[in-house]
Amino acid sequence: MTTDVGLQKVKEVLKTGSEPHLMTGDQYKESLRDGRRVIDSKGQPVEDVTSHPQLARAVDNIAALFDMQFEPDTRDAFTYLDPADGERYAIGWQIPTEKEHLRRKLEALRLSTLKTFGIFGRPPDYGSMMALGFLAVNDKIERENPEFAQNVRDFIKLSRAHNLMSTDLIPDVQADRRIPASEKPGRLRAVEERPDGIVLYGAKPCGSIGSISHFFTLSTALSPGLDEAACLWGVLPANIEGLTLVLREPVTDPNAEWEDHPLDSRGEEIDNLLLFDNVFLPREYLVSFKNKELLGLYHESGVVGFWHILARLAVRAEIFVGVAQTIVDVLGTGRIPSVRDSVSEIIKYAAILKAGIIAAVEQAEVWNGVTVPNLEYVTPVRLYSIEQYPRIMHLLRDLCGQGMVSRWPKALWEHPEIGKKLDEFMPGTGVTAREKNRVFNLVWDLACSSHAARVAMFENTNATPRAFVSEELYQHYDREAACRLIRDYLDINPERVVI
Ligand SMILES: Cc1cc2nc3c(=O)[nH]c(=O)nc-3n(C[C@H](O)[C@H](O)[C@H](O)COP(=O)(O)OP(=O)(O)OC[C@H]3O[C@@H](n4cnc5c(N)ncnc54)[C@H](O)[C@@H]3O)c2cc1C
Repeated sequence: MTTDVGLQKVKEVLKTGSEPHLMTGDQYKESLRDGRRVIDSKGQPVEDVTSHPQLARAVDNIAALFDMQFEPDTRDAFTYLDPADGERYAIGWQIPTEKEHLRRKLEALRLSTLKTFGIFGRPPDYGSMMALGFLAVNDKIERENPEFAQNVRDFIKLSRAHNLMSTDLIPDVQADRRIPASEKPGRLRAVEERPDGIVLYGAKPCGSIGSISHFFTLSTALSPGLDEAACLWGVLPANIEGLTLVLREPVTDPNAEWEDHPLDSRGEEIDNLLLFDNVFLPREYLVSFKNKELLGLYHESGVVGFWHILARLAVRAEIFVGVAQTIVDVLGTGRIPSVRDSVSEIIKYAAILKAGIIAAVEQAEVWNGVTVPNLEYVTPVRLYSIEQYPRIMHLLRDLCGQGMVSRWPKALWEHPEIGKKLDEFMPGTGVTAREKNRVFNLVWDLACSSHAARVAMFENTNATPRAFVSEELYQHYDREAACRLIRDYLDINPERVVI
């Protein structure tokens, strides 16, 4: 890959550190000061994403994950030494050629999820997922154009060398569904072709965390019916000229204190609308162009990403178990059978998700040299995880009873008269009243607040909603042997008529 569009700042920053292919948190922050154009939800330009109130806390959270690449206890989980050159790289960008590589990615994911409570669906270790998905379907890309297949391999190499963080851009912006996909005004499309690249115009929605990432992986795998100029797969630097990132309204208070909001105070994953105003995308960043055969290839190209999404939720589910038991413990409700039943239901959720992840790795398949988790486990368990999520949130709230509204901010605990009464009247089981209050504050942020609603929307929708996943399951789950068994047993026509 000869282009260095979008990479100058990262390269500069990497030269200042002790590891040529890894950034510390501070280096990551510096790398974001790269001239990207971001407009906040009040319409104001964001001069520096690392200090803007809507983004600063999220940047700090992600920076802490970059730092974990250097900390003695976590370095070996977040990075690996490549025996080929003896250099250390981020684990996310290791191409999984064997199951053990997937297991190692899981360990990094587990640590990053425990660190952030999983409220960031696109942490740095997620960044490689879509590019690895491109690689997993590289035979199809190669059939279109071997140059593009090489671009996929080169982007993974380049990202690995520069410790890049990237995020996905897949659906199109919502617009009147009566307009054919090929005529939708906002669809991202090439308006000019040059020998060295294409010029893009239009929009893409939802790029979660994009304003504090380095690159986007872009595809039209969810968009049947597009015209050729809009059939686009590729990678896109966040600071590319002509691109504007527009931040949605925040759902956390940038001044929230940790005691009052143990999760919200650590920031949120802001979703971004991307506006393309004649963006020149170098040809080296193209992965597919004008290829209608790749439209709809979501199930296959998303294979590694879906697994990451489910695995993060599996770790969150373990957290939910811990939260549920803590609520029960501090309220002293553990002897009530229906309370125990609710906790058991959350444990069941966590165990099923974990089992699905382990099975998907144990029965992994190799596609184009990439060991990919088995979708026969990932898809149904992901469907289950989405369906049950609202129920789990309900159970957490239900276990709290009045606790969700009898929560008092720090200012009241420190009020000379009110604070004393709160302390006196509401002691917890084995904890003080104020400690019990902190548990409810956590549950509020996890299951009740606007932020909780955004995260729930993310879990439900970020990799397509329930109905879509259910349809994928119907289309792709192999049940031929089971059907044959039934037909043989009943001695009916062994050939299915598939409608
Ligand atoms: C919080 C959040 C974060 C996200 N982050 C990202 C991201 O980082 N990167 C990214 O690429 N995308 C992201 N997404 C977008 C997500 O992939 C899409 O929202 C999802 O694929 C649904 O597409 P849509 O929003 O265009 O829904 P629409 O097509 O407008 O459909 C609206 C609703 O109608 C129903 N529906 C529509 N079509 C079908 C169908 N064929 N089968 C069944 N039901 C259907 C569903 O209920 C659907 O939710 C995010 C979404 C949310 C909510």
